[in-house]
Amino acid sequence: MTPAGAAPRGCVITGTDTDAGKTVVTAALLRALLEYGLESDPENRFEARAIKPVQTGCEPGEDGNPAAPDVKRCIEALRGLSLPEAAQPRASALRCFHPACSPHLAARKAGEHLDARELALACRTEACKANFTLIEGAGGVHVPLNDEEDMLDLMAALDFPVLLVVGNKLGCINHALLTLDALAARGLRGTGMILCRTRPDRPEETCLLADNAAVLARKGAERGFPLLADLPFLPGLDAPSCGERESAWARLSALLRAAARHALSSCAEKISEQNPAADALLAFDRDHVWHPYAPAAPGPKVWEAVSTSGVRIRLRDGREVVDGMSSWWCAALGYRHPELTRALTEQAARMPHVMFGGLTHQPAVTLAEKLLALAPAGLDKVFFADSGSVAVEAALKMTLQYWQARGKPGKTRLAALRGAYHGDTCGAMSVCDPVTGMHHLFSGILPRQLFLERPSCRFDQVFDPAGFTETEHTLRREAATLAAVIVEPIVQGAGGMWFYHPDYLRRLRSLCDELDILLVADEIATGFGRTGRLFASEWAAISPDIMCLGKALTGGTMTLSAVLASERVADAVSRPKAGGMPGAFMHGPTFMGNPLACAVACAAVDALQAFPWREHVVRLERRLAQGLAPCRNMHGVSDVRVLGAIGVVETELPVNTEKMQDFFVRQGVWIRPFSRTVYVMPPFVTEDGDADLLTGAVRLAFEQGVHL
Ligand SMILES: *Cc1c(COP(=O)(O)O)cnc(C)c1O
Repeated sequence: MTPAGAAPRGCVITGTDTDAGKTVVTAALLRALLEYGLESDPENRFEARAIKPVQTGCEPGEDGNPAAPDVKRCIEALRGLSLPEAAQPRASALRCFHPACSPHLAARKAGEHLDARELALACRTEACKANFTLIEGAGGVHVPLNDEEDMLDLMAALDFPVLLVVGNKLGCINHALLTLDALAARGLRGTGMILCRTRPDRPEETCLLADNAAVLARKGAERGFPLLADLPFLPGLDAPSCGERESAWARLSALLRAAARHALSSCAEKISEQNPAADALLAFDRDHVWHPYAPAAPGPKVWEAVSTSGVRIRLRDGREVVDGMSSWWCAALGYRHPELTRALTEQAARMPHVMFGGLTHQPAVTLAEKLLALAPAGLDKVFFADSGSVAVEAALKMTLQYWQARGKPGKTRLAALRGAYHGDTCGAMSVCDPVTGMHHLFSGILPRQLFLERPSCRFDQVFDPAGFTETEHTLRREAATLAAVIVEPIVQGAGGMWFYHPDYLRRLRSLCDELDILLVADEIATGFGRTGRLFASEWAAISPDIMCLGKALTGGTMTLSAVLASERVADAVSRPKAGGMPGAFMHGPTFMGNPLACAVACAAVDALQAFPWREHVVRLERRLAQGLAPCRNMHGVSDVRVLGAIGVVETELPVNTEKMQDFFVRQGVWIRPFSRTVYVMPPFVTEDGDADLLTGAVRLAFEQGVHL
């Protein structure tokens, strides 16, 4: 049995253009792989396959089904091999079209649509049925699949290593290097490059063809695409005689023998095989590298992640785990989103950073415009900072400067909710829950803030006004010294994953107005759709005076945060003062408004708006609720709750994070429980099947008592 999460093995074969010789190489490589398997595996269990995701130029075959020319070529290449009966055809095409043209055009003429993610999923499913699968693309990397996507999108969704076939002719160095640039820009890994001649050599070309090979061998090696073979033209492949064709394929296969072995070893990090480099990395990490909330050495158990794609994280040992955490609320649309990668690489090439003092730039201004257009009414000014915690610091400082400017310097205290989490810097820590937070360790330097009871009324219950009484009393009593109340609207995240009633927030807003206290909404975790509304404040239809954003702001690619303030707050802070007080907000991080982070945040906001996230969050809410409901009756479980794309199983006692996480990785999912919560908040693009994998793993953990 393959371990859970074992990734299918194989590579994608693409070409520099349409007649580079891809099909011939695929067919001959398939033969070389099978021959190698026959020799090295005496029990004949090794199975290799070739898949053509999209085949155009299909003629009606004898059986009425369309016959794919590239599939026929593969079958022809295997003639004469004494292979065992296979459960699956060794060559197949997934989508067949009659016209011999680009896939997007062929599909459109047939009234069909090609979707990169669907095709990739189908390929991966098929690839699980063999030990090694060659997936042959159509034409070059930018051949369109539909109006938006091209072969590169399919390759990125597949996330297989790439074998590039280069037609050895005049101009091929340029074509090959442009293709390698395009592959690198999408983070695609290479297996290697194969040069192929598709017509007889002319004597005057000898020098040129040899030089192509020499240049590409050098440049390819530098870019992780070593030249694996320089194939001659073999006229025998198209000879009328069957025997002649067979011996030509045998010859070509022999020339690709080394390439096949290289593909097998480079494309398949074998499960649990000893890997000295990976072991050394983990050892150094354990001894020298700090991880979150952990001792320095020996550090906690960690897994080495090597790449991400969609909702999957690939681990060094070849396993892939389905992500249930969105990397702590960040990767709302999954990993390696093409638009985000593009924004990053384009901005990195133009201007990664420039100071924000005295300078401004398009990415920051455009992002500010986008955020203000989306934010609750009344928020009008944007301050960019580096991380969520720093945004909270800036917001708190802003409230203090506001009251100084308003001539009430006695309003210096802050009120926060029990169960809150607002970050790890000192100011932010001072408004985190005083018991579960880290107050006891830092009591010497933390300002003493005022704590209000955790809102007791659940999100899914009828609101009980009694749950607000104590908050109201406390705020009325302390109003004269209070600068602001800071809350995580609706969802308290890291402090216990608690969902409370919107009416609490509504009442808090009007009480703050009445008592002249500012309301700061920390939407760092809840912002950008996670709870089913773009911002959780919308559940209560309120506007805070100040709002903090972070986490999903850059779609999980970079650290960036923003503090949005109302005109009233910003104006007061900015007004020039008599007596030497600065009429300016006194904060300015070095990397403020970092263009790289702002550019990718613009792309992330656009990508979110272009994606029907509301429907998907509702879909995930149902799916998670359904999948987690059975946990309610399990031993040691005190509550199960779901809101938006957040599913929580609360336990009676704190769980062992490391032990549970180890279990989850073995189940092929990435879930990191914390304290008394085992929770999932997957990317919005998570398909039902993957959501079921997450909830299934959680159920199994409770069934087997892993939490005890
Ligand atoms: C994560 C988080 C923060 C802190 O953000 P960092 O980027 O980790 O500094 C603050 N508030 C809330 C609600 C958070 O979830």
